[in-house]
Amino acid sequence: MRCLSPKEKARMNWMVAFLALPDGGVRAEFPDEIACADRLAAVRWPHGVSCVRCHSTDVGFLELRKLYHCRNCRRQFSVTSGTIAHRSRLELSFWFIAAEDIITAHAKGVADALLTGHGLADRYGISYAATYRLKQLLMRDLSVPTGLFRASVCVRGFTIPPDIASSDLDRFLWLVEQMTAPVPGYD
Ligand SMILES: [Zn+2]
Repeated sequence: MRCLSPKEKARMNWMVAFLALPDGGVRAEFPDEIACADRLAAVRWPHGVSCVRCHSTDVGFLELRKLYHCRNCRRQFSVTSGTIAHRSRLELSFWFIAAEDIITAHAKGVADALLTGHGLADRYGISYAATYRLKQLLMRDLSVPTGLFRASVCVRGFTIPPDIASSDLDRFLWLVEQMTAPVPGYD
C-alpha cells in the first residue's frame, strides 16, 4: 500500500483542524473582541481563571480595563498575558481570523500560494513585518492539537470515526472527501 508523504501527513493534521472550525466561520462564531476573549479564557482556564504568577484562583476582573487581578499576589494580567498574542497591537479577533485563514489554506493544500507574506499583508492591511511575525507565531500554535489558538477556533470537537482510522491513507482520503464544502474567499 502507498504511504503518505510527509507533506500529506502534515496536511492531514491541518484537515482535522479545518473540519473542527465553526460551521459559519470564525467571524460569525466570535463576532467581537468580547466573544474572542471569552472563548480564549474558557479554553485557557477550563476550570476557572487562575493567576499567571501564583496560580491562585482567587481572581477578580477589572471590567473597565479588561484585566484580571489576583487577590493573592496582586498581579494584574489579561487573557493574552504569556500567550503568543501577549502585548500584541492587533485585536484578538484578528488573531482568530488569521488562525482560520492559515488552517484553511494548509488544509486545502494552497498555503504556498495564499499565505505569502505580501499577500497576507495586503489582505489584512498590516505591515509585512507584522504579518510575518503573526504568521510565525500562529504556525507554531496551530500545528499542534493542543495549541491555545487552535483549540480556541476549533469549536466542533471533530474526530475521525474509528472505522476510518485503519490506515493513514484511508484517513487521508476520507478527510479530503470531507473537505468538499466551499469556503468563502478560497474558491
Ligand atoms: Zn497571583
